Amino acid sequence: MKCPICGRAEVTWNVRNYHYDACGLDNVILVGITVGTCPECNCLVPKIPQMEALHDCIAHALVKKEERLTPAEIVFLRKSLGWSGTDFAANMQCDKSQISKWENGKANMGKQTELLFREIVAGRKKITDYKRVDAARKEANKVVTLFVRMADNYWAEPEWREAA
Ligand SMILES: [Zn+2]
Repeated sequence: MKCPICGRAEVTWNVRNYHYDACGLDNVILVGITVGTCPECNCLVPKIPQMEALHDCIAHALVKKEERLTPAEIVFLRKSLGWSGTDFAANMQCDKSQISKWENGKANMGKQTELLFREIVAGRKKITDYKRVDAARKEANKVVTLFVRMADNYWAEPEWREAA
């Protein structure tokens, strides 16, 4: 396959870990997926199977996360509900400017609000193993990365790891 960015060379395929920042989160690694590399411009062309299932899998891990949600994770979960910022404000009965502050990190979402938000996502996405006593109980003062792995033919339960 020709490089889709520069078109000057054939990409070479490898199985490797891929930093999936296109999902809007900077802490998600897809483990062992097929990635093309262009020898001319060095761009990466990941082959990401079952995109919708992958996004559900990430949402699932975020809902159950023990650390508080980061602003980018709040955005990811809000979008996973199919909500605009306006929808989010309407559902939480708050001002839209409040939503922006949470999503760009200018204000922290209160813990009770965060738990309610997680509960909404868990209910909408039919996440049945959500335990609210474990969720959000740690401050997000450590950087944790989510490793997501394909098992046979589905995205397996992902794993949080602290940055080394
Ligand atoms: Zn290229």
